[in-house]
Amino acid sequence: MTSDSNLHHAAVERATAPAWQDDVRQGVRHARDLASLPLSPGERAAAQGAAANHKVRIPKAYLDLIDWNDPADPIRAQVIPLPEELVEQDGELGDPIADQGFSPVPRLTHRHADRVLLFPTYQCAVYCRFCFRKESLTAIGRGYTREALEPALAYIAGHPEIREVILTGGDPLSLPDKALAEIRARIEAIAHVRLLRIHTRVPVALPSRITSGLIEALQGRLMVTVVTHFNHAREITPATETACRMLRQAGFVLLNQSVLLKGVNDTVEVLEELCRELMYRLGVKPYYLHHGDLARGMAHRRTTIAQGQALAEALRARLSGICNPVYVLDLPEGGGKVPLGPCYVEAREGESWRLRGLDGEVRGYREVVGE
Ligand SMILES: *Cc1c(COP(=O)(O)O)cnc(C)c1O
Ligand code: SF4
Repeated sequence: MTSDSNLHHAAVERATAPAWQDDVRQGVRHARDLASLPLSPGERAAAQGAAANHKVRIPKAYLDLIDWNDPADPIRAQVIPLPEELVEQDGELGDPIADQGFSPVPRLTHRHADRVLLFPTYQCAVYCRFCFRKESLTAIGRGYTREALEPALAYIAGHPEIREVILTGGDPLSLPDKALAEIRARIEAIAHVRLLRIHTRVPVALPSRITSGLIEALQGRLMVTVVTHFNHAREITPATETACRMLRQAGFVLLNQSVLLKGVNDTVEVLEELCRELMYRLGVKPYYLHHGDLARGMAHRRTTIAQGQALAEALRARLSGICNPVYVLDLPEGGGKVPLGPCYVEAREGESWRLRGLDGEVRGYREVVGE
């Protein structure tokens, strides 16, 4: 190749440089980039200290959603550090759902027989201030290398009861296409694995990263489910709509998990709109609504369980079944995700039950079962 054609090649590459790279470059990449934003004095004071605990990163597409005139903006609350993050309460935990306790080999958590969490990277496209895994992200911090996953892949191959492999992290979609294709190929070569799940905030925070190349990297033998993480209807934009349409058209099943966050989505109106827009506009089925876990420095974002139950009950009455998420608590010490209600059983005596309807009225129900 002549140097001319090299230049030409480089120019073509520049012209077609993927849009997501600009989104990353023009966003907040380090705590020091926060200085150029119209922060409050408290946010400004918190920036360095909070970043030492949990990195700061906000792609431009997500940053642009912030209404800076609103100090309580729900997008801002998710990504801009606050002094409260540095206040630790009794009972908070470094590893709130015991990922470490159930990790037989590095980069893998196996708590339920049929599925494992696989951590190809501990880096994310956006760092959410409320992240339940923030301490392991900060402590481990590492990205993907092929070698680092070998023990985890060997473990999966040696455990035929595993049917679902869940790529999480960190954010698996922060990896290059090539790495994703490699990981997918290695997993699908294990005959007993049926489904590949990808837990990601990329369709929310960096939707331009959902490209045909990325989708191709994930397509193969396995059923693919992409579990997104939208917390507010304001995160649903034309760009996220395009990203989700591409993923759906590729044949992937789309689900969403939200975290219940005080000051972000702790009203029935906000949750109702979020769940409807997810299903009706994005074709993403609301899967879980997580009660805020016990990550350190997050007391200011947690609701009580009673508040969460009241919200879940109101949603059940207002939303269709497909729009309705299950309200769960991921138990510390690895008890798994348990539904917290609502519960409609008021009383029972033998085969006579007292059940509360969605209209609030309690009715009797008698079981009739053949011999
Ligand atoms: C959340 C989680 C899963 C997935 O649970 P589902 O209820 O199937 O979504 C699997 N393993 C671990 C360790 C988890 O924390
Ligand atoms: S994208 Fe997920 S893993 Fe990453 S900081 Fe946000 S919540 Fe945590």
